[in-house]
Amino acid sequence: MYNTLNATSFPFANIGEVEKICNELLKVDNLYSVMVSDNQLQDKKSVAWIDSIITNNMGCLTREVTYEEHPVSLMPILKVQDNTQRYVWEHNRGIQGTILDNLHEVFFYINGTANGENELYKQIIYPLKINESLDYHAIIDFCFNSKNPYLTRIYLIGSLFTYPSYSILLNELHQLHIQLVITVTDVDYLHYMQAYTDLAMQEDIIVQVMIKNVNDIEELLINHDKVDVHYYFLVASEAEYEYVLDTTKKDDNKLDYQIIPIVKDNLDFFRNLVYLDEKELTETPLTKRDIFVRQSINLNDFGRLTVLPDGRVYSNVNHPSLGTIKNLPIDIVYKEFTKGQSWFNVRKQKPCSDCIYQWLCPSPSNIELAIGKPNLCLMKE
Ligand code: SF4
Repeated sequence: MYNTLNATSFPFANIGEVEKICNELLKVDNLYSVMVSDNQLQDKKSVAWIDSIITNNMGCLTREVTYEEHPVSLMPILKVQDNTQRYVWEHNRGIQGTILDNLHEVFFYINGTANGENELYKQIIYPLKINESLDYHAIIDFCFNSKNPYLTRIYLIGSLFTYPSYSILLNELHQLHIQLVITVTDVDYLHYMQAYTDLAMQEDIIVQVMIKNVNDIEELLINHDKVDVHYYFLVASEAEYEYVLDTTKKDDNKLDYQIIPIVKDNLDFFRNLVYLDEKELTETPLTKRDIFVRQSINLNDFGRLTVLPDGRVYSNVNHPSLGTIKNLPIDIVYKEFTKGQSWFNVRKQKPCSDCIYQWLCPSPSNIELAIGKPNLCLMKE
């Protein structure tokens, strides 16, 4: 039982009469309010369970006569499944509808760089080390065809200043009035530092630096108080993690950074620093809506498409491609809604499907795929 008002919880055995009451409580039409029979009130386990609910301020027990109309609480229901049926209905009749509004961010791997990596992109956004690049006309067309009121960000990942048509591409994308995010390796950033910092001065551009060589932090941050750049420190060990913390702590100026753990033959590091334990899961405040969203969509993938330098388009780069950059984004989004494996990938598989924290846990992520384990927790190892 989890109370979204104060993030408190208690476990119980869902069996016998308690299970019968729970099954009724979970019916949407009952609005979290059910009749408890005299027999159930004779059952010691049901009474103890109801007492725990009352003691934890999670509900109340009243005599039917006390209220003319009994108290109810709305169960938040996300409309995603209803929407999918509507989209199929519209698609079969050739109606464009609003399905494209579900596309919120597009990630273009515009080219490769000598400092890239060909595995990391399956875990996090990280430039590739390949020679292929996307045609800028194709990027521009895909972006213009993706435009909808909820498309908020376009990412350009790679080595922007070695991309031959970068200035045309930026000029064209500016016409969309959507935030552009330029993602670059630490080495490429240092090489073209002035050009990247000039870009970061523009209001609709964010520059993200992915820092794999954490020992270069001091050189990277030399000017950071004068530039508006976001830093992502990729750490693969506790030593790297501590080093980043120590170095950033020394810095008096406010630094915009995040530490991102990456998988690299380092399961112990993940066990110690990343895996969730019971305390973290039960003490992280979540609203009712947060919990129901976790039951319906994958918060890491929903609304996102990625285009690799060979032109293939993915809802998650770990799953098969949904088409190419030559396809219309609306057709790709429809395919993801009806046949995809990512946007609706929620914790329905074992061991999570048997776990009481199933819907308190964050959505499945690429880190789990990289580790080859369906859960990042200490509860079920
Ligand atoms: S088994 Fe799955 S649902 Fe349960 S705590 Fe671990 S990751 Fe979360």
